[in-house]
Amino acid sequence: VNVEGCIFCKILSKDIPSETVYEHGNVFAFLDNRPINRGHTLIIHKHHHEDIFDTPEEDLKEMMVAAKHISIAVRMAMKADGINIGMNNKPAAGQAVMHAHLHVIPRFEKDGLKHWPGKNYSPEELKIDAELIKKEL
Ligand code: AMP
Ligand code: ZN
Repeated sequence: VNVEGCIFCKILSKDIPSETVYEHGNVFAFLDNRPINRGHTLIIHKHHHEDIFDTPEEDLKEMMVAAKHISIAVRMAMKADGINIGMNNKPAAGQAVMHAHLHVIPRFEKDGLKHWPGKNYSPEELKIDAELIKKEL
């Protein structure tokens, strides 16, 4: 599927160049061209979906299984101390490219990146939130 104007679909069709690292079935992975650290890899499904909300479970499974294989390879290749797996969904969450993708980000003890800032909420507030979420499941 080549959705009009989608840069990741254009990468799939080779209309935009990329550094491919993996292709297996309907899953494709390539280097982020503005990496957080060297080896930062993006994993996409060949079917164009926007984000986690409209991606079928089967396609998500294939992406996540690929994330495991690629994490192992990136960790070895970059001699990384750790790996972050990330997925930004919707612009409010930082999604810039609207073709669902997983980030595999090599991390190093002294790479200077910070954990996201957690805030303090009371046990009562956490309980309320858990109940609200469970009602939707
Ligand atoms: P997100 O904010 O999760 O949508 O991330 C989009 C990512 O795609 C960013 O990390 C960009 O650096 C990366 N990116 C954008 N265009 C390209 C491209 N042509 N080739 C490789 N990576 C890209
Ligand atoms: Zn696309």
